[in-house]
Amino acid sequence: MRHPLDEKGMDAAPGRIRCLVAPNPSAMTGPGTNTFLLGSGEVVVIDPGPDDPAHLRAIVGALDPGEQIAAILVTHPHLDHSALAPALARATAAGVFGFGAPGSGWDARMRALAALDPGGGEGRDTGFRPDRHLKGGEVLRLGDVTLQVLATPGHMAEHLAFGWGRTLFVGDLVMAWAPSLDSLPDGDMGDYLASLARVAAGPWRRLLPAHGAPITAPRTRIAEVIAHRQAREAQILAALRAGPATLAAIVARVYPDIAPGLCEAARRSALAHLVDLAGRGLVAAAPRPAPDAVFRRRDA
Ligand SMILES: [Zn+2]
Repeated sequence: MRHPLDEKGMDAAPGRIRCLVAPNPSAMTGPGTNTFLLGSGEVVVIDPGPDDPAHLRAIVGALDPGEQIAAILVTHPHLDHSALAPALARATAAGVFGFGAPGSGWDARMRALAALDPGGGEGRDTGFRPDRHLKGGEVLRLGDVTLQVLATPGHMAEHLAFGWGRTLFVGDLVMAWAPSLDSLPDGDMGDYLASLARVAAGPWRRLLPAHGAPITAPRTRIAEVIAHRQAREAQILAALRAGPATLAAIVARVYPDIAPGLCEAARRSALAHLVDLAGRGLVAAAPRPAPDAVFRRRDA
């Protein structure tokens, strides 16, 4: 399926962008994963998408005669973004570029949380092994396409964004239609907000998320996402005003009407907020900030 890239933002990138939507729509992926093809002749792919032979055929079929894929870039190792990379690499002889395997960007705190709570990694592409490891601050020259690599941890520690001209390919950092999920231990609320602030301070005129429509007013959308997080944090602190509570009790208070398909996402998002609040000294967690803890406000 072709994605309706907005015409008015087209001058924000120095070359041609094609977008193919993978056939994996869901509550978490919206219409499906956007796979972007950058440039002409030597084409760069961003987020090949889920391991689906029909989507592989669609990507190869989107090339003009004589074109080839020069590189396969992955924003982060979640299955809906990276799982097709090995098959596409085999079909095209292009190299796979990304930060690294899930968990390779974890700090000691994330490793400790992972040991306490092995869940939350449902979408992790544990087999992801890029041919080339990327870091924030790098400049990639791939044929006629020159990309800036930005480290954007938060949704996942290994999350990258790619800048081309004034267009930033943001993966799951920010979407037009839904808040992005921070799922511990992969995600981190503090890192997430810092990544958003860094993108808001950049020269970007258009953000192209991996799910849903382009974002043509980056600062406005980022301000909305930050406000949403702050409102959620205020709700969690309000829920704790009545006294100490478990994660399940807090989720029931903060998300009373949530759709069943999003319950686990809500639970993980609330936990990410609580661990962040504990790290900032606003909430105490006994025996430690983990899913089985009892949380209380330090000022209560
Ligand atoms: Zn993701």
